Amino acid sequence: MSDNVILIRFGELYLKGKNKSYFENALKDNIRAKLDGLDLKLYFGRGRYVVKEYPAASENEIITRLKQIFGLHSISVARRCGYDLDEIAELALSMTPECGTFRVTSHRSYKKYPLDSMQLNMTIGGRVLEKKPGLSVDLHSPDYVLNIDVREGGDVYLYDSTIRCAGGMPYGTGGNGLLLLSGGIDSPVAGYMLAKRGMNITALHFHSIPYTSEAAKEKAADLARKLKNYCPNIKLCCVSLTEIQEAIHKNCKPNYMITLVRRFMMRIAERVAKVNGCSCIINGESLGQVASQTIESITVTNSVVSMPVLRPLIGLDKDEIIEIAEKIDTFKTSIEPYEDCCTVFLPDFPLIKPMLEKVIEQENHIAELDKLIDNAIKNIETIAV
Ligand code: ATP
Ligand code: MG
Repeated sequence: MSDNVILIRFGELYLKGKNKSYFENALKDNIRAKLDGLDLKLYFGRGRYVVKEYPAASENEIITRLKQIFGLHSISVARRCGYDLDEIAELALSMTPECGTFRVTSHRSYKKYPLDSMQLNMTIGGRVLEKKPGLSVDLHSPDYVLNIDVREGGDVYLYDSTIRCAGGMPYGTGGNGLLLLSGGIDSPVAGYMLAKRGMNITALHFHSIPYTSEAAKEKAADLARKLKNYCPNIKLCCVSLTEIQEAIHKNCKPNYMITLVRRFMMRIAERVAKVNGCSCIINGESLGQVASQTIESITVTNSVVSMPVLRPLIGLDKDEIIEIAEKIDTFKTSIEPYEDCCTVFLPDFPLIKPMLEKVIEQENHIAELDKLIDNAIKNIETIAV
């Protein structure tokens, strides 16, 4: 067993007033589920949680998993001792370097501890200095900071570094959303962003088999699997657009293809969302990125649904989106070559500023629009992720 413990801090939950216990209980459940299968003990105290009694070899795995839990602010690997000053000093001596500059920073959540923070800093700092002549104190920019946390119940924790976690709100506390998941870079990031705010994610992928390959669908499943690290219960629904795309191709002007396909996608998404208890649609649009992402195009595709459509990436540049995709490990999968359903019957000149009346006029050339949608939904396939 490791002598270390891992201190877990959460931030924003404090703002939630009377709902605090609801958010805290969700967070505890998510931590338990994430660490399930590992040999360790979890302690849930007021305001702070601790992981202890784990084998040293699994420390990195525990840290990796904790960093994927939304609602956690930061963690620190720490050593534990009791209130006794000799014990604290001994641990401090074992952790501080032999030379250079250092500072001690104490925090007391146990306010009845006989020394205040300043006295504790000076006492422990003094003891370290006595034994380590190569060290000196620098309060402003020391090489090494020793943090001392004095907690209720006889626990004192010493640590020297803090690892930032994902932040956000506990997964599952922010309602349910249906993510339109393509095989591209943007949509997995869009899903991550709302999962980070606590939204429970169900994914929907459109394919055009046989115009697109089975591999393109498998790629969407791979991305959903990557998202599972953050959205533990994600499932992937797959819907074929083939018949719809053929109908558009046969009946409508070529340059309306993308606009019309996207209106079908939205109609189907709204229906799939309702069946799955989702109250909004999420997509990876970023303003102006491509022809279908101008405000005119967005207006025309949005007008067929009444559910809110959340676009968490709308104001982000591609390089900002890629930075997040790399962080959440979806980027490498996203850039694998594949044919997107949107590339089927792709016009040379897609509309950049479609006008709603003209779009509707084109759409009216398609007979039995509702039946096409019913058919697509009837053949929905759910992939276990
Ligand atoms: P992405 O990188 O997410 O594929 P993109 O930059 O390629 O986005 P578009 O192809 O215009 O942009 O798609 C915009 C959004 O529409 C996507 O982010 C995604 O949410 C949704 N979308 C596009 N294609 C599909 C698809 N085949 N299945 C499900 N959703 C899709
Ligand atoms: Mg795409």
